[in-house]
Amino acid sequence: MAVIPADLHLHTTASDGVDSPSEVVRLAAAKGLSVIAITDHDTMDGVAEAVLEGKKLSLLVIPGIELSTASGGKDIHVLGYGMDAADNRWQERLRLQGSVRERRNAAMLERLASLGIPLQLEEVEAAALAAGGSPSSLGRPHVAAALVARGAAASIRDAFDRYLGEGAPAYVSQPRITPEEGIEWIIEAGGVPVLAHPGLYGWDELAERLAAGGRLQGIEARHSDHTVEQERGYAELAERYGLLVTGGSDYHGRRGSELHHGDVGARTADAAPLLERLAASGREVR
Ligand SMILES: [Zn+2]
Ligand SMILES: [Zn+2]
Repeated sequence: MAVIPADLHLHTTASDGVDSPSEVVRLAAAKGLSVIAITDHDTMDGVAEAVLEGKKLSLLVIPGIELSTASGGKDIHVLGYGMDAADNRWQERLRLQGSVRERRNAAMLERLASLGIPLQLEEVEAAALAAGGSPSSLGRPHVAAALVARGAAASIRDAFDRYLGEGAPAYVSQPRITPEEGIEWIIEAGGVPVLAHPGLYGWDELAERLAAGGRLQGIEARHSDHTVEQERGYAELAERYGLLVTGGSDYHGRRGSELHHGDVGARTADAAPLLERLAASGREVR
């Protein structure tokens, strides 16, 4: 089968991306891609619009998600591809994930207030709207943008470094499902679970443990923030366990002149093995 270069990690306004699902599809088409996946945080709300736009432009959109999980006190992301968005139990589980996100935002604002920065939820919502995002799915990038708008941080990067990043004083880790649970949720919704950007966790034993667990089906070896060595190492790990090697830019859009992670198509992986696996399990994407 021919290699199909695809960006399998893209965010839209359905979560904390800047561009609408249609816009992301148009950007991908303009880059010459023929296959992408939309992988918003804990929601598939952007998928239907992207699929429609994709059909107009002859671009195949794989329904995806990026589940927020935690293990060992770290935020761990699990990508899923090909889930049935209409599955009742899956929808109920995603609603639960959304309420965890809301509680986390509230807790971050409390921490910021205790640090002398009484940032209001309305400011975060305004920052999300100003960035073209949706106030219904606020996350750390929106809190960071609100801090910049208020003059409490010089840039998004500065806001993460000083307040919101892991280990910073307003960082909040919320009760999360484990990566193992996220993997099972995705499988039970008919999808293919993939460990997102293992190079960002500083914890390679986790990737090894999940790979050895026999339930994970792929590793995102190719990612905007991975070095060439990391890419090679994770691809080898995937190969060792017979897992798919996936990849993508993790595009979130531009906030001002800042590009979080990478541009659309900045990282790609061969989508053919993933499409084959989905077709073999009766979840053909077209
Ligand atoms: Zn992620
Ligand atoms: Zn992502």
